[in-house]
Amino acid sequence: MLKKLLVITALWAFFCGTGLGTFKNAAAQTPAQKGLKVLPQPLDRGNAAMVELIQGNVDCQGSFDKRPIFFFQEKVGSKKPEDKIIGLFGADVMIKPGAYPLTVSCPGQRDLITQVTVREKSYGVRTIKVPQRQVDLSKEDQERAAREKVLTDMALATRSPERLWSGSFIDPVDGQVNSSFGRQTKINGVLNPRPHAGADYLVPEGTQVRAPARGLVILTGDHFFSGKAVYIDHGQGLISMYFHLSEILVNDGQTVERGDIIAKVGRTGRVTGAHLHYGVYLNGARIDPIPFKKLTGLL
Ligand SMILES: [Zn+2]
Repeated sequence: MLKKLLVITALWAFFCGTGLGTFKNAAAQTPAQKGLKVLPQPLDRGNAAMVELIQGNVDCQGSFDKRPIFFFQEKVGSKKPEDKIIGLFGADVMIKPGAYPLTVSCPGQRDLITQVTVREKSYGVRTIKVPQRQVDLSKEDQERAAREKVLTDMALATRSPERLWSGSFIDPVDGQVNSSFGRQTKINGVLNPRPHAGADYLVPEGTQVRAPARGLVILTGDHFFSGKAVYIDHGQGLISMYFHLSEILVNDGQTVERGDIIAKVGRTGRVTGAHLHYGVYLNGARIDPIPFKKLTGLL
């Protein structure tokens, strides 16, 4: 699996170097020439949006905040569905609010460029208490966490060009969402500068966890902080993850369909109680899975 990830990462680096380099030549154009629509605008930090190409195709490549945008063809609209060329992109939870260029390069066409405004959103602070040894790590635990970070960073760097999913994402479990996405966490009285990059579902241990959409399992493991964890690649840089599980029911390399049972909720890793941590990364941007589900509902 590691080898496969390396190949994908290397391919992506090559792809980036050849394709996105053309953005250097992008010239600002008038709104009428833009040929693209962004929805919603403005965008809150920690949220994703959709860009529609009026005249373009799936070979176009985009970029926002130094992250790639892949395009796909999809029938959009409930009354009279129309084929549209759509790309998804995310404003990372830690992005500085402001105006950012979104650029699109299509073969044989002038590059397209538009401004996307990212707004500040206040996510607040939460306070948790865990055993002190999970904060001040022993040398062994530090080494273990560092080894695991290499694996998870590689999984999160996966950029498979093909989109593996379609239709709307579903909730991974039924139950109350404690939408603590984006919150900074005070752990045993000390503020952790990293924001909480997922939504927590407060559900009992043993609750079945479903795949929210079709994808490929790219990493499973039992990690120091995340406990038993599953990472799913949905293609085109969209990756979802499930932490603190009691049981993992899928294997690396396995394709899962939307609704397939992939695991059971638990309390493994650094937790204060049983819950499901559900995270979604879009080409490395950490986004809130709850509004993201609504966004996929527009497709
Ligand atoms: Zn969490």
